[in-house]
Amino acid sequence: MTIYNFSAGPAVLPEPVLKKAQEELLDYKGSGMSVMELSHRSSLFEEIIADAEKLLRKLMNVPENYHVLFLQGGASLQFSALPLNLAQNKKALYVNTGSWAKKAIAAAQAIDNVHTKVIASSEDRNFTYIPQVSKEQIDQDAAYLHITTNETIGGISYQTLPDTGNVPLVADMSSNILTNEYQVKDFGVIYAGAQKNIGPAGLTVVIIREDLLNEQALFAPMLDYRLQAQSHSMYNTPPTFSIYMAKLVFEWLQDLGGVSQILKYNQQKAGLLYETIDRSDLFQNPVNKEDRSLTNIPFLTDSDALNQEFIQLAQQQGFENLKGHRSVGGMRASLYNAFPFEGVQALVDFMQEFEKAHG
Ligand code: PMP
Repeated sequence: MTIYNFSAGPAVLPEPVLKKAQEELLDYKGSGMSVMELSHRSSLFEEIIADAEKLLRKLMNVPENYHVLFLQGGASLQFSALPLNLAQNKKALYVNTGSWAKKAIAAAQAIDNVHTKVIASSEDRNFTYIPQVSKEQIDQDAAYLHITTNETIGGISYQTLPDTGNVPLVADMSSNILTNEYQVKDFGVIYAGAQKNIGPAGLTVVIIREDLLNEQALFAPMLDYRLQAQSHSMYNTPPTFSIYMAKLVFEWLQDLGGVSQILKYNQQKAGLLYETIDRSDLFQNPVNKEDRSLTNIPFLTDSDALNQEFIQLAQQQGFENLKGHRSVGGMRASLYNAFPFEGVQALVDFMQEFEKAHG
């Protein structure tokens, strides 16, 4: 039976990447060692991390005046690192779009000398839309405005970015980095955990504009962006195998034609699922149509029992990890870059059969 993995993360990886990693697992380029066994100071690993950076820069069109950092601690550590580096004794502005934005806000609020301010929220309608932000709402002396470009749980996503004037826009792009043609130059900082569109867990990518690096050394070296940039992400031992896997994923994406091509593919996948939901009398998607996510698609029936039955039957057919987050209920299909179109086709066929039997 074919297994389709709809997990929100860690998530499906491209099969050619897994095969390549398997081929190279025991003996990387004739070294007689696995990548996992290489010193991070060896020339073989230095080549891997340099290639990974080069490829990511090309895929995302990262301008010269930005640093690309390969760190650890997940996006969650960046929730704290970001205000510590950029917003001490300053205002940090946030848009509250759901579970992940809330966590970023809470982490900033926990730092005494950061003046955290939430300037817009969609909590009034259970985070089913992206709230508008006008330039007038943005204090021009703020350190940054933080957004979550894609809320993984709620399934909402920014289609157009807010105009922040001179205030740097900062984005948690964990669940839609490389799926969509965002321009790095529109952001001051972008960060993302790897385990959805980049590779295995354990790696966090931070892309930061040179002039935003902290001037003073931070009390905690591992959180210090300037130090990490100066050390080329090698202040300590980086997550070597995850970086290697990311490099393979970047090569795979490059060979497919890059972000503009995968975006078309992602639109086809998400489009098919949304069309099926919209045509259905049984399933619905709670999100405002203009703000729908390409990568995380919640859907549900109006009966919890029926949702349960759907998830159970789906699993028996090889559709894994379709259970939605408890705060939204129902089902959620995560369709990241590596998720195949055939899997969406198989799912919508199954949904239609289920509707015939239960509608
Ligand atoms: N932000 C978003 C949008 C996420 O989806 C997640 C993880 N699902 C996180 C942050 C937290 O990431 P991590 O587990 O890498 O800390």
